[in-house]
Amino acid sequence: MPYTGKKATKYHILNHMLNHGDTSKVELAKQLNLSMPTVLSNVNELMEIGIVAEKGEMESTGGRKAVLIGLNSDYRYALGVDLTANHLGIVLVNLCGEILKQERIRFKFDADLSYYTRLAEHLRSYFSPQIAAEQILGVGISLPGIINQKEKLLVKSHALQLENYSLKMIEQLLDLPVYYENDANAAILAENPQRLKNSIYLSLNNTLGGAVCIDGALFTGQNRRAGEFGHMILVPGGKRCYCGKAGCADAYCAASVLTQDGTEKLEEFMARIDTDAKTAQRWEEYLEHLAILISNLRMSYDTDIILGGEVGGYLPDHMVALGKKIFKYNIFDDDLSYLKNCSYRKEASAVGVAKQFFWRIMETV
Ligand SMILES: [Zn+2]
Repeated sequence: MPYTGKKATKYHILNHMLNHGDTSKVELAKQLNLSMPTVLSNVNELMEIGIVAEKGEMESTGGRKAVLIGLNSDYRYALGVDLTANHLGIVLVNLCGEILKQERIRFKFDADLSYYTRLAEHLRSYFSPQIAAEQILGVGISLPGIINQKEKLLVKSHALQLENYSLKMIEQLLDLPVYYENDANAAILAENPQRLKNSIYLSLNNTLGGAVCIDGALFTGQNRRAGEFGHMILVPGGKRCYCGKAGCADAYCAASVLTQDGTEKLEEFMARIDTDAKTAQRWEEYLEHLAILISNLRMSYDTDIILGGEVGGYLPDHMVALGKKIFKYNIFDDDLSYLKNCSYRKEASAVGVAKQFFWRIMETV
């Protein structure tokens, strides 16, 4: 936290609201260890700026009802884009992290100018004329690969088949600030890391990714490869992985394992589990491997594990079956309370990169 005095106080108030939602002045004073006059004057200033608003009254437990205050959702917006080899996931998010608009479209990646021109055009039409460009803080883009944010460089992406590829072109065409992040890191950012403190995110998408959050901040490792759980060996000498090795977790636990490499929709696969024996068998095998992966991660990190990605969105209905399998491999935990379902069942990566702009304005108010 680089600020002191009033600026720091405002930052802490906004930060608290972003992480914990609407609150009251009394609650702010208690949680942030501030005096009531300090809270009152800072909240008033934030309301004058327009970033904080009154949201009605709190549920009363007797006595005078406290006024609910929180971030003004319409103060600013951000766009999030999840860019993959064949698709774009796009979200328009308000300051409270609510998705106002979302879509997933087929948009085949091509590393040339026309791709970016079409992308920029599509994004502009996505928010206008409903929202003025000045209201958009920026565009976050999540990518399947290792990213050097300082140089705006995609260091390596198997999925897009690129190496040391400059991302500066998108920014020039969009005329808006752009933030880039690896897709799995982006997904954990959607969960508000400062609230999570310590946890890991398992992103069960067409490729299997992961991210690590320690003490409220993303942990990226020496080579920005922390959380590449997809390439841990799960079955020695097993199925071939797209990275070239055999037996990687990706070859057993990615969503593409269930959808015949994306030729079928996951929704259709999941709908058949209760009626088709063969599908049920494949789902059992999938959960078995996922249980091994989860047990290994729990042993390594001893933190909460957030189950995200496309498959993660379906897991709340299958926690009993998954739990039974995990208990075979992990005899140290008495319950599964460390397993958490993700907050955004769809487009978590796009939401995570969009939200980055909200953290940034908190620092400048
Ligand atoms: Zn691999």
